Amino acid sequence: MTVNSRPGSFSGDKAAAPMIDPFGRMVSYLRVSVTDRCDFRCTYCMAENMTFLPKKDLLTLEELERLCLAFIAKGVRKIRLTGGEPLVRKNIMHLVRALGARVKTGELEELTLTTNGSQLARFAAELADAGVRRINVSLDTLDPDKFREITRWGELSKVMEGIEAALAAGLKIKLNAVALKGFNDREIPAMIRWAHARGMDLTVIETMPMGEIDEDRTDQYLPLSELRSALEQEFTLVDNAFRTGGPARYVDVKETGGRLGFITPMTHNFCESCNRVRLTCTGTLYMCLGQNDAADLRAVLRASEDDADLFAAIDEAISRKPKGHDFVIDRARNRPAVARHMSVTGG
Ligand code: SAM
Ligand code: SF4
Repeated sequence: MTVNSRPGSFSGDKAAAPMIDPFGRMVSYLRVSVTDRCDFRCTYCMAENMTFLPKKDLLTLEELERLCLAFIAKGVRKIRLTGGEPLVRKNIMHLVRALGARVKTGELEELTLTTNGSQLARFAAELADAGVRRINVSLDTLDPDKFREITRWGELSKVMEGIEAALAAGLKIKLNAVALKGFNDREIPAMIRWAHARGMDLTVIETMPMGEIDEDRTDQYLPLSELRSALEQEFTLVDNAFRTGGPARYVDVKETGGRLGFITPMTHNFCESCNRVRLTCTGTLYMCLGQNDAADLRAVLRASEDDADLFAAIDEAISRKPKGHDFVIDRARNRPAVARHMSVTGG
């Protein structure tokens, strides 16, 4: 491997220059979908009969590592592993350990992951040991029957065990809940109390129109402005300037002393401060979650051992990073704004 992972370093005669897009935004955050496969079938995310990528199209873990190191060399300071379900990828801890080592040397500020929690009981201690400090766990309900309904295949008790194991291993947890009209909107206050009592932040997310699913998204869509008004009947929400570098806007909940985040891709454009790009498990780089334009880094990666070509391909891709997405959920079109599923780019 020829990647030199110090920002601004030279490899041959090609500088690993920082990534600055046409709108002056510095890209410092890489999300990597390590697999498109998942052991759940959340109704808003996937159809029940999903066709997954053939295994041969996937990058090896070594190839994913080489790409991540190239991005670190180009100024990425934070990497999030996601999926599909990242913890169902075989030998994923190999990649976690390799990247975690970069946290220990200070080359990377943070290595984190987004998980459905199903495998956490098994991996929590190992993740903490490898250098992971914080994780996001997706949880849309605390009711076992509703959990089965929304995930189709999931078991709440396993996720609960995983959360306990992660807390015991010293991992900070942020819970993510997709707000679904008529499904969990009335349960959100109980989830806030439950999460905050255990020292976990909670962020609610609007559904995004990505990929064909078996349901009608207009039925699921709940604008968070509505949810916030409802929550304000019960809680005192105080705007908080806290930012994680992500699209969430936070409030403090006075009654619980905890933090609540809102991710509102539909009702509020969260793109102005976007500092991220997304890499799929086949080496495709998406410069925006809500657009189709992409760059194929797998071909470049496999064509040469020299990272100069890779850096050039990344620079070219960043020069095409768009200003923002054009999500719209609209009954007339009734088509997803983006054809690929969230499990491809990992949210
Ligand atoms: N499987 C892992 C999990 O569920 O945490 C990681 C991948 S999942 C695609 C990442 C996040 O995207 C989850 O929090 C999930 O709820 C969210 N998500 C999936 N499809 C979505 C959609 N159409 N709109 C909004 N959020 C979605
Ligand atoms: Fe799997 Fe996560 Fe999508 Fe649910 S949201 S189906 S857990 S990838």
